[in-house]
Amino acid sequence: MFGTSGIRGLYGSEITPELALKIANAFSYQNLVVGRDTRTTGPVLERAAFTGAMCAGRDSISVGVVPTPVLSYATLKYKCNGIMVTASHNPPEYNGLKLISAGKEINKQEEKKVLSNYENGVKLAAWDKNGKLIPDVGITEAYTEFIFPQVDSASISKKKPKVAIDCNGAGAIITPILLRKLGCEVITLNTQEVGFQRPSEPSEKNLSALKSKVKEVGADLGLAHDGDGDRVALIDENGEFVNMDVQLSLMILHELEKKKGKVVSTVESSLIIKDAVEQGGGELIITPVGSTYVGDTLEKEGAVFGGEPAGEFIYSQGVHVPDGVLGAAKFVEIFAKKGKISELTSRFSPYPMVREKYKTTDRKAAMEKILGSISIEGEVSKVDGIRIDSEDYWLLIRPSGTEPIIRLTLEAKTKERLEEIHAEAKKLIESSV
Ligand code: MG
Repeated sequence: MFGTSGIRGLYGSEITPELALKIANAFSYQNLVVGRDTRTTGPVLERAAFTGAMCAGRDSISVGVVPTPVLSYATLKYKCNGIMVTASHNPPEYNGLKLISAGKEINKQEEKKVLSNYENGVKLAAWDKNGKLIPDVGITEAYTEFIFPQVDSASISKKKPKVAIDCNGAGAIITPILLRKLGCEVITLNTQEVGFQRPSEPSEKNLSALKSKVKEVGADLGLAHDGDGDRVALIDENGEFVNMDVQLSLMILHELEKKKGKVVSTVESSLIIKDAVEQGGGELIITPVGSTYVGDTLEKEGAVFGGEPAGEFIYSQGVHVPDGVLGAAKFVEIFAKKGKISELTSRFSPYPMVREKYKTTDRKAAMEKILGSISIEGEVSKVDGIRIDSEDYWLLIRPSGTEPIIRLTLEAKTKERLEEIHAEAKKLIESSV
């Protein structure tokens, strides 16, 4: 039932009010705070979750439409478990349940506990032992106060950056307000509180309106969230979308300047991420793909920062889920302290890369065959799929978590080296799938 980030699927067939009630019930071994993004199926699932908690005899706190990092903060503030009703960047016909405890997504071990409660059936408290529904008392304001001191507001208010922000979901209720409070001039796009006004994922192809807006108003930078506001993407002052690996590198260097230490990223992290961590004097820790692993490892290793090149940034002093709201404020801080985004990002040059999919009928057998006959040189790691690291290239062969395909990611420092290793990897995978 659980994927790489909670439970997610099509509303009506895979995700139903009944499921929301039962999962909330199974997760209510403490009181439960429930929030949601702006999906039209959110209110129905949210109310089912309240019921699941209250009939288990626990109180349910309603925070309404909030970004996932704000819901995570609520689990710390109210010392309770939390459910975020969201399908993140999936299309609007999807929805899902993200389970959060102590400020981060629950790990695989805790998922098992929830599933076992779920399988035992709905827990029904006696007629006089039902929980209460408690309205929120200003979690957004409390969260703003929590993250405000984490950025240099003096530098920002002195510079008065002009920021265009495309919210398209839950981020609309907090990020523009936070940025204005920090002293920015803010131009907003897509701030309606029901549904999405563009596809949820803040990828280059979905942000043409923001790119035009940045140029039209002469903004210093453009920012865009996904539907649940845990991601943020960056556009420079020329209206150009900044490469996701470059965005992450920029953030890594910025965080390492403040505090040296460990940085967490996944087996998909590219060479420029490795370079940025090295250049910043940090140590890179690699986890399997998914923010649950990044957040969990960040805590265990006492790392200063964690991130994935999808606009996902986790800060040690913040909540330990990706935080697009704090991320937005950090990009503004980077501009205020270091200057033009296009000049900062031009210092990074992404290396040549290949990303391919290979169809297979049996992912497990294919992976075993690949592992048995692999002869590409380098240090082998099996954290998630097979990753090989060498001096001037790396590759990852990984079975998809949801589709019958094997994915190949390959990056090299030169085009010649890329072609050479690509031919070898292609031959190996094609003879194994
Ligand atoms: Mg998201």
